[in-house]
Amino acid sequence: MMTRRQAIKGTAVATAVYAMANSARTALAQPPPPPGEAPGRPGFRPREGRPPPPGSGLIVIEPLKLPPLPYPADALEPHIDARTMELHHDKHHAGYVTALTKALGDYPELSKKRMYELLWDLDKVPEKIRMQVRNFGGGHHNHSMFWLMMRKGGGGEPRGELRKAIERSFGSFDGFRGQLTETATKIFGSGWAWLVWDDKGLAVESTPNQDSPLSQGKLPLLGIDVWEHAYYLKHQNRRPDYVAAWFNVINWDYVAERYAERQGYSGR
Ligand code: MN
Repeated sequence: MMTRRQAIKGTAVATAVYAMANSARTALAQPPPPPGEAPGRPGFRPREGRPPPPGSGLIVIEPLKLPPLPYPADALEPHIDARTMELHHDKHHAGYVTALTKALGDYPELSKKRMYELLWDLDKVPEKIRMQVRNFGGGHHNHSMFWLMMRKGGGGEPRGELRKAIERSFGSFDGFRGQLTETATKIFGSGWAWLVWDDKGLAVESTPNQDSPLSQGKLPLLGIDVWEHAYYLKHQNRRPDYVAAWFNVINWDYVAERYAERQGYSGR
């Protein structure tokens, strides 16, 4: 009998797309927009004639392509400073893509897969490059999402179905915020704190380094990067200050769209 996780995975692989919503999706299929010009919103791009999964848009993260920031580097000021965003995207994220490209050099068939597929089925990646895919591929995927999880004028609180789900799982929005803050603050060393969804519902979890929740069969809805490179220029050693500031830039519309996309993973 198929376990629920297998059912989820089967459905996800069958849909063969990693559905995400935001403008940066265009950049992955088309040349990057001119500097300073935000990419448009193309909507779904059904693959191989298949209807897209439920939800409102998708971004396909390809292994070898660095998506541009979906907003100017100073868009998140004063909460996250422009210089940090520039370095974070242009050096750190770009570095993961470069290292992943090198690791996949002898594996052209893997380079054609979606980033999501590689991370979800990490155990199927050849052992020789599995750690590189886990670290650099995870870094690429995590950061591609991270840019979209923030926006100028963001923050506030989620609404609709996502709001209800958060209240069911954490008692209240404040309960959720407290749990994510505590998890993010307590990560020892480098890693991410996440709001994830799996067939049991919502949860707050952390992953070390660049590990993706996808590799544990969980869909990341929202994540905060707590590597020092994400905050050290502005906040130095004060990670709690960074976490509090980051809550002011969360793109809850995007998180809600990712929550809606979960149906594409479960088949429910
Ligand atoms: Mn980072």
